[in-house]
Amino acid sequence: MRYILTLFFLISAVMLPAQSTVESIPNQKLINGSYVSNPDDILDATTVLQLDTLLASVEKKTTAQVAVVIVESIGEQDIVDFAQELFTAWGIGNKERDNGLLVLLVKDQRTVRFHTGYGLEGILPDITCKRIQREVMVPEFKNENYNAGILAGVQEVSKVLTNPDYAVELAEPESDTTSNWAGFIILLSVFVAPAALIVYIVKAVSGNFADSKKVVYTPYPEMRLSRLVWLTVFVGIPICIVVFFGVSSVENAAIWCFASLYLYFMATLFYRLWRMKKVINRFAEAQQYHEIVEFIRKQQLFWFFMALAFPLPFIFYFPYHLVRKRIYRDHSRNCKQCQGALRKLRGKEEYIYLSEGMQMEEQLRSVDYDVWHCSNCQSTEMWHYLNHRTKYQPCPECKTIAYCLVSKQTIEQATYSSSGFGESIHACKFCGKTKKARYTIAQLVESSSSGSSGSSSGSSSGGGSWGGGSSGGGGSSSSW
Ligand SMILES: [Zn+2]
Ligand SMILES: [Zn+2]
Repeated sequence: MRYILTLFFLISAVMLPAQSTVESIPNQKLINGSYVSNPDDILDATTVLQLDTLLASVEKKTTAQVAVVIVESIGEQDIVDFAQELFTAWGIGNKERDNGLLVLLVKDQRTVRFHTGYGLEGILPDITCKRIQREVMVPEFKNENYNAGILAGVQEVSKVLTNPDYAVELAEPESDTTSNWAGFIILLSVFVAPAALIVYIVKAVSGNFADSKKVVYTPYPEMRLSRLVWLTVFVGIPICIVVFFGVSSVENAAIWCFASLYLYFMATLFYRLWRMKKVINRFAEAQQYHEIVEFIRKQQLFWFFMALAFPLPFIFYFPYHLVRKRIYRDHSRNCKQCQGALRKLRGKEEYIYLSEGMQMEEQLRSVDYDVWHCSNCQSTEMWHYLNHRTKYQPCPECKTIAYCLVSKQTIEQATYSSSGFGESIHACKFCGKTKKARYTIAQLVESSSSGSSGSSSGSSSGGGSWGGGSSGGGGSSSSW
């Protein structure tokens, strides 16, 4: 009986493939520094050498550790659980970064598993793992070309690890248009919708709609829209465009939607230009060229941003906007007294018509005066243009725009225990008025970032053991 039993065990040992356990798989990294554990000699020596060379260079470049384990059998055990246990037992990947990957092939289960550490789940998402397995590994495994399959798979993995852009390319074809669309809608509702709401509220509160309850005076009523028109133009129609493309089955709906919105908003800008034209025409008829210049100046920042947001075509309009300002400033005009033609005085010619304070302002470039002279009745007309970027402010004494900060001096330094103070001096360049004022300097605050030194980038590459990384069970398996 004993002989029969012994014989039975002997036979079963020969018949059954060798069953590996987590403990029985040799940890080659500890033994000879190899990334490959191949206890059943399924891979040939050349492949193992190629894998080691490749994976050593991957670790050197990225600190990511890839372990390749290929076994005949793990019995009835689940490959995911087995991979998790093995991953944890070996601690694959850099401990701080958890950038380990276990490539486990179990021949009798006809399954290959990529088991990723936490730190690799972003760069090697399940979808990318699955793609690599399906496209380059499984076809080879079906033909029992384990060497070729493993090598091709690991080569793809190392491409991803050393070039994250490649991962994006790999993952892209998997994402269908609906997820693109969802992202697009989310983006739109997160950023654009609240912005539109804020603009509406601000306009409503400041009485900036043509039909606001308390209408605030504007010299440019043509620029105002009624609430209904504004809501239609900036909320209603854009929502219709988004919804239309959302339900349509057009290919690349998100792109078409974006293009339509772009064209649509461009059209609203042309509508704005048309309203501007109405304002300008009204002023031009009344020969109020100074008002036109002011109006164009107030629109300048808006068109600057529109040139950035809608470079086509408004990058071409913007320079014209600036030229326009100059054109109207120098536009020929008639004398109010005798209707004779006025002539704009050039350079110093105008000085005799300017007060000393005005001359000072011209010199300081805080105000620019234009003096127009009628050669018929000898009268003059004057317009002034404020420099909105000047450092000068109106003097509290003489009102000339020639008053500015001339010195600022710390009297007592602020410390960590008390605030300090300083003295500022303002002076008028025209009447000479000066004003001293004290200002306080805030108490110093201890800097909280006391140097996060010593970011040990661990992982001595090339030799020794695995780095102690852990896995949250991410990854993917494919069977054939
Ligand atoms: Zn005149
Ligand atoms: Zn003054």
